[in-house]
Amino acid sequence: GEKLLEIKDLKKHFKVGRKQILKAVDGISFDIYRGETFGLVGESGCGKSTAGRTILRLYDATEGEVNFEGVNVHDKKSKKDLKIFNRKMQMIFQDPYASLNPRMTVMEIIAEGLDIHDLVKNKTERKERVHELLKTVGLNKEHADRYPHEFSGGQRQRIGVARALAVDPDFIIADEPISALDVSIQAQVVNLLQKLQRERGLTYLFIAHDLSMVKHISDRVGVMYLGNMAEVASSDDIYEEPLHPYTQALLSAIPLPDPEIERSRERIVIEGDVPSPIAPPSGCRFRTRCPHAMDVCAKVVPEWQEYKKDHWVACHLYNDKYNDEYKKRENQG
Ligand code: SF4
Ligand code: MG
Repeated sequence: GEKLLEIKDLKKHFKVGRKQILKAVDGISFDIYRGETFGLVGESGCGKSTAGRTILRLYDATEGEVNFEGVNVHDKKSKKDLKIFNRKMQMIFQDPYASLNPRMTVMEIIAEGLDIHDLVKNKTERKERVHELLKTVGLNKEHADRYPHEFSGGQRQRIGVARALAVDPDFIIADEPISALDVSIQAQVVNLLQKLQRERGLTYLFIAHDLSMVKHISDRVGVMYLGNMAEVASSDDIYEEPLHPYTQALLSAIPLPDPEIERSRERIVIEGDVPSPIAPPSGCRFRTRCPHAMDVCAKVVPEWQEYKKDHWVACHLYNDKYNDEYKKRENQG
């Protein structure tokens, strides 16, 4: 596919207290193709939301690049250029209530972007556009004069979607857009997002905390662990042929629909908690919980490599320089 975004060695560090540094995102690289849904997954605290916000320039990057249509959005830009990125790249938030101003009507919330970006000529057109957008997301024009608290969680998320759509974006980051919703409502919101993608050729970065949530909607998937990217591949490859031990463990935690297979299956249990990103383990950050950890894993940071075509992984098991210990162990059974 054609690259819409190219994320290159992106880092976002935060100062904590006087001396400590939280390396929330610590050097991730991947591409997002035009028209696709890229699912970004990992446990809470792995840096996926921070990555999303840094890609969108809600945070300044500490290091690295986010190239959108070939231009690094983190370079110093003129106000005019920034305004274009601000329009083309939008976000849908996890908590639709917290992200909607409670003192603004739905009309005001959705029209805000139209005004900022001068997308309507007059009040009549503004009103018509908001009514159209409400219809697009499955609400109606009677909703325009109400306030966020008058809506259900699912409806509020639809308002969030309408707000994002108002400025005609190319790229939308959806940060756990359905996690806070009832299960019965989740599918409706996902269906809406997929319909909009088909109709408008949108590109999504869909952030979720587990693989089962992104399975059916993602063309490609990235798995993050403690500020690093562990693996990136097509959805099919991630689910059928996961390379990284962390991905394998995440997958084995998803219940299978067939109870027969489910009972006989071996579960990979990841021991322990996620270490603190302020003092991550040396070498491979997953080594304290990895069932295959070798001596080298404590000493050398695994290289981010394209192990197979379009299948990226950071793990010494896939580097012949380092995997002798593992191969020996495997041969001994
Ligand atoms: Fe496990 Fe080592 Fe691979 Fe890290 S590099 S995932 S510790 S085998
Ligand atoms: Mg988050």
